[in-house]
Amino acid sequence: MTVPPGSTIGIIGGGQLGRMLAIAAANLGYRCHIFDPHEHPCAAKVAAAFTRAAFDDRVALQAFGDAVDIATYEFENLAAGPLEVLGDKLRPGVRSLVVAQDRAKEKQFIESTGARVALWRAVESRDEVNAAIAELGLPLVLKTRRWGYDGKGQAWIRSDGEAASAWDAIGQEPAVAEAGVDFAAEFSVIVARWADGRHAFWNAPQNEHGDGILRRSTVPCSDLVAVQVEEARQATLRIAEALDHVGVLTVEFFASDSGPVVNEIAPRVHNSGHRTIEGAVTSQFEQHIRAICDLPPGLTGLTQAGATMENLIGPNVERWPELVREPGAHVHIYDKGEARPGRKMGHVTRVRAQS
Ligand code: ADP
Ligand code: MG
Repeated sequence: MTVPPGSTIGIIGGGQLGRMLAIAAANLGYRCHIFDPHEHPCAAKVAAAFTRAAFDDRVALQAFGDAVDIATYEFENLAAGPLEVLGDKLRPGVRSLVVAQDRAKEKQFIESTGARVALWRAVESRDEVNAAIAELGLPLVLKTRRWGYDGKGQAWIRSDGEAASAWDAIGQEPAVAEAGVDFAAEFSVIVARWADGRHAFWNAPQNEHGDGILRRSTVPCSDLVAVQVEEARQATLRIAEALDHVGVLTVEFFASDSGPVVNEIAPRVHNSGHRTIEGAVTSQFEQHIRAICDLPPGLTGLTQAGATMENLIGPNVERWPELVREPGAHVHIYDKGEARPGRKMGHVTRVRAQS
């Protein structure tokens, strides 16, 4: 069922991903309606309509569902139950959300599709953390099952003596204990999938993190990653199919000696795909809109030789005067207000010309 231009797309979550989705949707002639609990979410500033309500407010979600022709989400930490009022209007569906928002369910699910993950155990007590250390060895990382992002809700254990403080640092929440992966590089595979199974990949970006936050993403990736991309794409597609996912899905990988290891999945557009706005023929944001509205897939190849995206995190956004003077730099500022440390405030993409 094609949702034609002129229709209204509901977006649950009003952050920068929602903002860039709304801009892409507007280019295709759609109106967007943002649903978010905050006072001035940055996506609402570029959208046609805004509902301010809690993500689990069923009455508000019902009214939102009545007001939109199709709905999607840009944020996975949403209570799944209340979203059921949206019925078939929600793309991707609730299943993608439920799997991606709980790290234990996510890992079980990924393993069930035959992809590799780091050795892991679910832990709910200090004794279970100690048991995980005995079974998995060190180093390992504790990650809360729910609510983590940008490295939040994580603590590393590098020696037995650090177990108690790491357990306290994650608030003694139900967690997964995950063996540290000795990776040569990190990369991601981003796919868009249509309800009828058509799909399109982009070039896989190589990703550099600092303090658990993505700093930089580059295409094409290095040769060391390139040899693992085909296997990683097949794993990504199996995951998307098993979820019956409609829209963009991202899978983060470690390139290890034994091949690609899945780190985590995001049932949505992804920070490592921002470079597609200028660096690919069709951006991840436009393609997500195309997939959920059942328009045909756009081409995903590189516009030029390659591209690098750099995040502007916290006070780094103050570099804008220098960046806007830089020839060819594409500056994106999300208009989020206060530049708190660790907050994603914008990004800059540099496209490399063909030589
Ligand atoms: P988030 O949801 O915050 O993105 P991730 O699980 O992706 O959380 O972890 C953030 C980063 O921390 C990863 O991109 C990687 O650099 C590092 N990291 C996470 N898990 C591991 C691991 N098991 N081994 C090595 N590095 C890891
Ligand atoms: Mg991650």
